[in-house]
Amino acid sequence: MTHLFKCIACGKYTLHDKTCPICGGRVKDPQPARFSIEDKYGDYRRRAKRSSRRVATETGIETRES
Ligand SMILES: [Zn+2]
Repeated sequence: MTHLFKCIACGKYTLHDKTCPICGGRVKDPQPARFSIEDKYGDYRRRAKRSSRRVATETGIETRES
């Protein structure tokens, strides 16, 4: 999947992960936490399929959220 970065100087989105091709400014990931969170919950769900009760107890996600 293509990952877009955003220039902190001019605000343009770019495929470059270090410098903006338009103004030469620095770029950053506009949503740095999003992918790691999805991956974390994806891993949680994969483990949950095997032993849902045990995983929920270990992480406290399901037991404490409500
Ligand atoms: Zn720029």
